[in-house]
Amino acid sequence: MRIVGLLGGMSWESSIEYERLINEGVRRELGGTHSADLVIRSFDLAAIESLQERGDWEEAGRILAGAARRLQESGAEVIVLCTNTMHVVAPAIEAAIDVEFLHLADATADAVRRVGVRRVALLGTRYTMEQDFYRGRLEGHGLEVLVPEEPDRTLVHDVIYDELVRGVVEERSRGAYLEVIDRLVDRGAEGVIAGCTEIELLVRPEDVDLPYFPTTRLHAEAAVAAALAAEPEAR
Ligand code: GLU
Repeated sequence: MRIVGLLGGMSWESSIEYERLINEGVRRELGGTHSADLVIRSFDLAAIESLQERGDWEEAGRILAGAARRLQESGAEVIVLCTNTMHVVAPAIEAAIDVEFLHLADATADAVRRVGVRRVALLGTRYTMEQDFYRGRLEGHGLEVLVPEEPDRTLVHDVIYDELVRGVVEERSRGAYLEVIDRLVDRGAEGVIAGCTEIELLVRPEDVDLPYFPTTRLHAEAAVAAALAAEPEAR
């Protein structure tokens, strides 16, 4: 089994789900008392958030790339960045390591394509919904990506930072998200990507009538497959 390095804490509310899901996946596959072999670096989200707000992606990239390198030096053979948003600095991380980097948008796109969805709604932070690093990557897999219009986009972003990363899960916000999803369905969405690792703590698959893609779960499953693959998969 390969050692998986997790870059987490963004937020820890979802990172603990990664740890749980990866461990459950390894137990499911190997049985007995098997569990995942992990190295974890968990950041203070407030420090990362202030870099996001300043748009200082260069400094954020330097910090995460350095941390990824240190995970590799600690034995990690696969690196998993436990946040959609910070994939904005994925190129810096990939340049700093020699081991496999499991890009979250690739794991997500694979799942969307597997069920035959082509036009998919993307919910996430403003950075993820508006910048090209994530949408463009999904589009590169042949998907058409719809994001909420305003004011829905602001609502989706604010619930993440004001509630979900603080461990607050409100029924009212779940209802608001479901209304946002309804409006995306009216615009032609055939499926919904929970493109922020905390969204699936709020909106569960059973809340949504169409194919739903929870990125924490999908990324964790990809990490299990990579950990148990005999050879690193070709990129
Ligand atoms: N976990 C979030 C994401 O998947 C947002 C928190 C953050 O990294 O800023 O995008």
